[in-house]
Amino acid sequence: MGIGSKWYRKSLLTVAGIPLVEKLSTSYGKRLARRFIAGETLDEALNEVEALNRLGIMATLDHLGEGIRRLDEAAAYRDQYVKLIEGIAERKVRSNVSLKPTQMGLALNPAVCYSNIRDVVKQARGRRNFVRIDMENTPYTQATLDLVRRLHKEGLTNVGTVLQAYLFRTAQDAPGLLREGVNLRLVKGAYKESEDVAFQKTSEIKDSFKGIIKLHLERGAYTAVATHDDEIINWVKTYVRTKGIPKRAFEFQMLYGLRMNVQARLAKEGYRIRCYVPYGVMWYPYFTRRLAEKPANLMMVLKHMSALKR
Ligand SMILES: Cc1cc2nc3c(=O)[nH]c(=O)nc-3n(C[C@H](O)[C@H](O)[C@H](O)COP(=O)(O)OP(=O)(O)OC[C@H]3O[C@@H](n4cnc5c(N)ncnc54)[C@H](O)[C@@H]3O)c2cc1C
Repeated sequence: MGIGSKWYRKSLLTVAGIPLVEKLSTSYGKRLARRFIAGETLDEALNEVEALNRLGIMATLDHLGEGIRRLDEAAAYRDQYVKLIEGIAERKVRSNVSLKPTQMGLALNPAVCYSNIRDVVKQARGRRNFVRIDMENTPYTQATLDLVRRLHKEGLTNVGTVLQAYLFRTAQDAPGLLREGVNLRLVKGAYKESEDVAFQKTSEIKDSFKGIIKLHLERGAYTAVATHDDEIINWVKTYVRTKGIPKRAFEFQMLYGLRMNVQARLAKEGYRIRCYVPYGVMWYPYFTRRLAEKPANLMMVLKHMSALKR
């Protein structure tokens, strides 16, 4: 059962908001989420990144937090990201950063959000680093693309974003962003979206995914293919081999805690591979999205839970 299992995804994404479910999850909290989260502090996360780097795996660090309620929270996250960029530079680890626009205040005040993200991107530019703006659900798609384009127009080109293959609009968004030289991570899409705006069938999502990957690789745009799906990974490997596209022209990306053996193997095979490493205390929404994506993830956690009870 993959992303196409509508019932599974819908049920988990729905129960995720129920207080009792939240309570149960938080009571097992840290220990369960630890499978997908690198720790609560910056130091813990940087230790994990060092270990990944030793295996030839690069990282992108995500200080967890989204859907904030007040702008001072956004300012605090901005400051955390500034510290994170400094931490990466001091420890000399191979990592960039990923952040969520709602964490920086997009839903509350787009102007303040812009200014917060610009501060982070400027800090990263000073340290020759890169900022990835994660893509959230459709209320924020246009605003996120606008924000990234505006930063590029200001000369801040060390920032990129994400395109979700499940959205119909991605076929129109991709060519323009490519022309403008925006660095993109390509994904299937993680949120519950309606059939008015998004493909629902696994086969359609995969076709759309392959279509945008192909477009990027053909145009020679450095891109990130973020997936754990063997079919897509093998398809990319074959495609680049037949077209003579060098391995350094793109990277694979996977999430921390998922398929770590595959990540290490790709590094050994000479592919660029980057692990998305979340850390921090606000792990709950991230954790439930991971469980909603795949029954295997839930099973893994349930097994862990029974081990904890013993
Ligand atoms: C680095 C990264 C960043 C992301 N950023 C965003 C973002 O900004 N916005 C967004 O909406 N989404 C994001 N996503 C999530 C993405 O959209 C998908 O929801 C998620 O990656 C699940 O799709 P998948 O292609 O990995 O594989 P799935 O569709 O979950 O699985 C397909 C197949 O892959 C194989 N597989 C997958 N996982 C496993 C496993 N654990 N063990 C064994 N086999 C497995 C199985 O064969 C499975 O049938 C990101 C994902 C990654 C990896």
